[in-house]
Amino acid sequence: MSNSSIKKVCVIGAGAMGAGIAAQVANAGVPVVLLDIVPKEGSNRNAIAEGAVAKMLKTEPAPFMSKSAAKLVETGNIEDHLDKVAECDWVIEAVIERLDIKQGLYAKLEAVKRDGTAVSSNTSTIPLANLVEGRSDAFKRDFLITHFFNPPRYMRLLEIVTGPDTDAGVAAKVEQFADVAMGKTVVQANDTPGFIANRIGTYWIQLGINAAFDMGLTVELADAIAGKPMGVPKTGIFGLVDLVGIDLMPHLQASLTSTLPKDDPYHAIARTMPLIEKMIADGYTGRKGKGGFYRLNKEMGRRKEAIDLQTGEYREKISPRGPSGRAAKGDLQALVESKGDIGAYAWAVLGGTLAYAASLVPSAAADVVAIDDAMKLGYNWKAGPFEMIDTLGARYLAERLEAEGQPVPEILKLAGERPFYRIEDGKRQFLGLDGEYHDVVRPEGVLRLADVKLSSKPLLKNGSAALWDLGDGVVCLEFTGKMNALDGEVMKLIVKAIPLVQTQYKALVVYTDADSFSAGANLGLALFALNIAAYSEIEKLVAGGQMAYKGLKYAPFPVVGAPAGLAVGGGCEILLHCDAIQAHAELYTGLVECGVGLVPGWGGNGEMLDRARNAKMMPRGPMPPVAKVFETVSTATVSKSAAQAKEMLFLRPDDGITMNRDRLLYDAKQKALSLVDDYTPPEAPEFRLPGPSGRAALSLAAEGFRKQGKATEYDMVVSDALATVLTGGETDPLDTVSEQELLKLERETFMRLVREPRSVARVEHMLETGKPLRN
Ligand code: NAD
Repeated sequence: MSNSSIKKVCVIGAGAMGAGIAAQVANAGVPVVLLDIVPKEGSNRNAIAEGAVAKMLKTEPAPFMSKSAAKLVETGNIEDHLDKVAECDWVIEAVIERLDIKQGLYAKLEAVKRDGTAVSSNTSTIPLANLVEGRSDAFKRDFLITHFFNPPRYMRLLEIVTGPDTDAGVAAKVEQFADVAMGKTVVQANDTPGFIANRIGTYWIQLGINAAFDMGLTVELADAIAGKPMGVPKTGIFGLVDLVGIDLMPHLQASLTSTLPKDDPYHAIARTMPLIEKMIADGYTGRKGKGGFYRLNKEMGRRKEAIDLQTGEYREKISPRGPSGRAAKGDLQALVESKGDIGAYAWAVLGGTLAYAASLVPSAAADVVAIDDAMKLGYNWKAGPFEMIDTLGARYLAERLEAEGQPVPEILKLAGERPFYRIEDGKRQFLGLDGEYHDVVRPEGVLRLADVKLSSKPLLKNGSAALWDLGDGVVCLEFTGKMNALDGEVMKLIVKAIPLVQTQYKALVVYTDADSFSAGANLGLALFALNIAAYSEIEKLVAGGQMAYKGLKYAPFPVVGAPAGLAVGGGCEILLHCDAIQAHAELYTGLVECGVGLVPGWGGNGEMLDRARNAKMMPRGPMPPVAKVFETVSTATVSKSAAQAKEMLFLRPDDGITMNRDRLLYDAKQKALSLVDDYTPPEAPEFRLPGPSGRAALSLAAEGFRKQGKATEYDMVVSDALATVLTGGETDPLDTVSEQELLKLERETFMRLVREPRSVARVEHMLETGKPLRN
């Protein structure tokens, strides 16, 4: 990050966290030194840090966004290389959780670091005051806690704790880098045990486990209640503990019981469970061990099993009758008032957790926003505790706690009938401890479409898309269908938007707040049309999409795509038609049509060919770019990051990448504005394509895959259709193929495939299972 004052980072401790944090620094394009101890055995003194990098290159989901990022990590050991700290602007300590070891390391760091170089600890449990004991005032000024979550690339939360002596400038420098370069959302936490997310999270987990044991519930039913219906990940509590490791629980428990104040409600619920102790002792530590509360029994044909909490024996997994009706759909009051075990368990877990969270303002966090952000980003809850209290009703929660003789947190009394959040004059506000509402302030450079929507009405809108005014002459095209699927309505809106932007605005950004940019064409609709053989409707949709996308490409104003998450099929094709892309670093894009027995039909083939022939290092001649595109598209390859999307040519070399999801729309808007002056639309390309001989060569290559058992017979049919389009059909290599001719060929080939029963079967299977059918 050129405008950051942090140009080089040192991470000490190359374990699970340290290595992952170093990888994320490298993903930001910033050099990082990764040090660990000298191993007791072997001659390679850097073996631990080197081993950590090598292991990460094989890990899935990958800590590195691209192989080239790994080259930015320099490995070493703390005995020979600690002097490298002098080159660094931030040192992140992620060694084992032992106070003596951390303190010893800081003493050594103090001798080699520059003044002003920030030092932070990734500790989960040790108070800052203890960490800096014995250090100089200068060291204390540079010191803070930065608590990352595992895995550091994918978890967006970073809790930052500063001490009474921490210099504000040093903290701001770290915060800015963590936010902009590393993509983390920073939440300020107080120096209290477990900080925010783990403190509430551990309480929630403990309540859930206790109540399931006490009420004699199955783990399946418990997870069906304290899962999706509560707006938390569908793993529920037992599934989550399996995921993070059952053996972690006693550690967290021991640490919190030894550090939390005596009157903290956690002490009353912390228990050791003989069954859990036995599971850990026998190696049943969850997914990383022999199994956990759930397991796949390989001896019984990969039977899905769950443990019986009463007997400790595994049995076949069941599908219990969980919450239904409103209780299953986010109505928390209906959930906790459900009859029988469902309501009782829901109340035990939710009522207790929300009351606990409410008691932590201001001791653990300054305001309700920090608590909500921490739980949403650190535990992937859809809504934070105070947002959930708003759904449930603060008064309802307070009255029910009171009726049960439980203490009512002060902040609930303060709220009374009022919600913790409200919208006032198009602004989101939260209730402060002073009893007044305050604006939720976004950091500079953060823009959310949700905020724009609070204060404006869409310029255009239909069932599948909308157009919003972002201000400064920039509009935003948003998809709104399920999974942001694309259909005729989206295309209609694009066609309507073009003259509007042309006459009244300067530029257009394609963006949505959703986790997935777009899952591509609406296959459900397509299947419906296929089943009634409405081929002319399908052809209209294909031609309409081609026209809309080319309309965007040749519009007399700049169009910037701003994707995040999944952007596949037609969702990838719209990006290929943009003048520029500002992508979130976590971009999973690709042309996946072959997977459902089709070929890209909305102009993706020509756009990819155009990129490939202009790509750096591409050998001359008509065949190499065609072969490159064929390889990517016939295998339906999807990028695992924006950096990889560049390598695959879905993005251009100078397309932008934003690390922090909340900054994506702002960055895209700036990019669009930067293109406005002297904007001229691109010229339509003309292609020289290899024709039938090229097609034969590609088919031969594909045949090799089939012989190796990597492709099915029908894959051959589909890839031959793709080869036909990419090589220009019957063209002569000496002739040129216009963009329109290529579009026609694409359309005809697509229409040929949709009539094939095996393609229809693939579409159907994808819709039903979300997975490709290998027929
Ligand atoms: P880990 O056991 O995977 O790795 C610790 C590493 O520290 C090991 O590679 C070890 O060789 C190294 N080490 C030990 N003494 C050292 C020394 N004197 N100098 C340099 N390296 C040394 O542990 P982890 O899970 O990566 O945790 C590291 C820190 O992060 C701890 O403070 C932990 O509480 C915290 N943390 C962990 C998680 C998590 O989910 N694992 C989450 C947040 C914070």
